[in-house]
Amino acid sequence: MSARILVVDDLLPNVKLLEAKLTSEYFDVITAYDGPTALELIEQQPPDIVLLDVMMPGMDGFEVCRRIKEQPESMHIPVVMITALSDAADRVRGIECGADDFLTKPVNDMALFARVRSLVRLKMVMDEWRLREQTTGQLGALENSTPVIQLSAAKANVLVLDDNEVDAAKISATLAQDDDNVFVETDVATTYQRALDQPFDIVIINLNLRDQDALRLCSQLRSTEITRQIPILLVIEEDQLERLAKGFDLGVNDYLVKPIDQNELLARARTQIRRWRYHGRLRKTYERSIEMALTDSLTGLYNRRYLTAHLDGQIGRVERGGKSLSMIMFDIDFFKRVNDSHGHAAGDSVLKELAERVSGNLRSFDTVARMGGEEFVIVMPDTNVGIACAVAERLRQDIENNGFTVPELSTTLPITISIGVATARENGDTSESILKRADDALYHAKDTGRNRAVLNTDGVFESITPVLQEEVAGGGR
Ligand code: GH3
Ligand code: MG
Ligand code: MG
Repeated sequence: MSARILVVDDLLPNVKLLEAKLTSEYFDVITAYDGPTALELIEQQPPDIVLLDVMMPGMDGFEVCRRIKEQPESMHIPVVMITALSDAADRVRGIECGADDFLTKPVNDMALFARVRSLVRLKMVMDEWRLREQTTGQLGALENSTPVIQLSAAKANVLVLDDNEVDAAKISATLAQDDDNVFVETDVATTYQRALDQPFDIVIINLNLRDQDALRLCSQLRSTEITRQIPILLVIEEDQLERLAKGFDLGVNDYLVKPIDQNELLARARTQIRRWRYHGRLRKTYERSIEMALTDSLTGLYNRRYLTAHLDGQIGRVERGGKSLSMIMFDIDFFKRVNDSHGHAAGDSVLKELAERVSGNLRSFDTVARMGGEEFVIVMPDTNVGIACAVAERLRQDIENNGFTVPELSTTLPITISIGVATARENGDTSESILKRADDALYHAKDTGRNRAVLNTDGVFESITPVLQEEVAGGGR
C-alpha cells in the first residue's frame, strides 16, 4: 500500500525524522516547512495524507487544516494533526478544524504507521468513489445520492468488548455524541456471536481483558466471511505494544492508548466507520451496475448477454456430468397488432405480465431471459426432453387460456405464443448451436400456424401441441 504523504512542520529535524521513517516503509514523502507552502503543494501535487504540526509560526496547523477542509479540491484529503502529548485542548480544536486523526509527539512508529495505513485505506475507497461520481455524472446518470465526502459517520452500530465497566461506559458516552448505537459485551464468545447475528459498523475491543484473550476475537472475526472486513479498533495499555503488533498481524485496523481521549476515540471510530460505509456503498453500486448490465429494464428478466454466458456454463456441466439440459424459446404471435391496436404502452404491459407469469411458473433454478423484442428463452437444467415438452405445452396453454390485463381496456386481451424446444447434446454443443435449434423449432411453429410448441431433434421437427385431426399427417408424439 503506497501513498504520497505530505509532512508539514516548521522544525527541520522533525520533518527529516518523519520523512526517514515513512520512506523506509516505501511511502512517497513530500515536505513543507510552513503553512502557505503546504497549501501550495497540496494544490500542485495532491497528497493522499497530510501530517500536520500544530505549532508553527505564522499560519498554524489549525488554520492550514481549516483551509484544506474548506476547499472542494482538497477536503477529501485526510489530515493528521501532530500535537503535544498532554494537550487535549489542541485535539478539540483540531476536530473543530476538520482534522481526521492525531499523533502525539514524540511520534512512535507503531502509531505513525497505524494512523497512516488506516487513513490511506479510507482515502482509497473515497478516491474510487469520487471517480465513479465523476463518471456517472458525465454519463448523465447521476442518481440522487449524497456525494461521498458528505456521507456521515453518525448513527453507527458499534459493538464493544470490554469487561471494565468504567471504560465501557466512557466509550458509550463518547460515541453517544455521534448518536451511535453501542452494544457492550464482556466476553469473547458472546461478542463474536453478536457480530454474526447483527450488522455492525465497527468493533471496539479492549486488549486487556481480565481472564480472556481479546485477540482471539480478532482472529475469529477475520476468519469469518461476513465479518472479515469489519473495522476493528483496539484499546490498549501503554505497555502492550508487542501484543498490539500481533493484533495488526491479525488484521486490526487501528488502536487507542488508555486513558481514552474522547476526541481521539471519536476521530478514529469515525475514520473506520466511514471507510466501512463507503466500502459497503461501493459494493452495492457495483452489484447494481452488474445487475443493470445483465438484466432487461422493462421486465427485470435477464438479457441476452447474461443468458449466453449462463448457457455456456450449463452446457459445460452437461458435457462433464452427463446431466440433461433443455431450452424453450418462445415469441408472442402477432405482437405488432397489439401495439397497433392498443398502443405501445399496452404492448409493454403485456410483455411485463408475460415475464411475470412465465417466471412464476418455473422452478427457481430455471432461468428466463428476454432475448430482445417479444422473444424469450428459458434454460432448464436437469430437464430431459419429455419434461421440457410438457413444460412448453403447459406454458402455451396457460397463455392461450388466460387473457392479459391491459390498462384502459375493459376486457382482457387474448394472447398466444409460439414455442421452440431443444435439448443439449452430450458433446459438441455450444450456446449458439442449441439456441439455433430452438430458434429453428420456433420458426417451424410460426410457419405451421402459430400458437403451438415444436420440438427440434437434430433437425427433425415434431409438434408437441396436439394438432387438429385434419392437420395430422401420420406424425405427432
Ligand atoms: P409473429 O407472430 O410473426 O411473431 O408476428 P409479430 O407481429 O409478433 O412479429 P414482428 O417481428 O413482426 O413484430 C414484433 C413487434 O414487437 C414489433 C415491435 O414494435 C414490437 N416490440 C418489440 N419490442 C417491444 C417493446 O419493448 N415494447 C412494445 N410495446 N413492443 C415491442
Ligand atoms: Mg512546530
Ligand atoms: Mg412475434
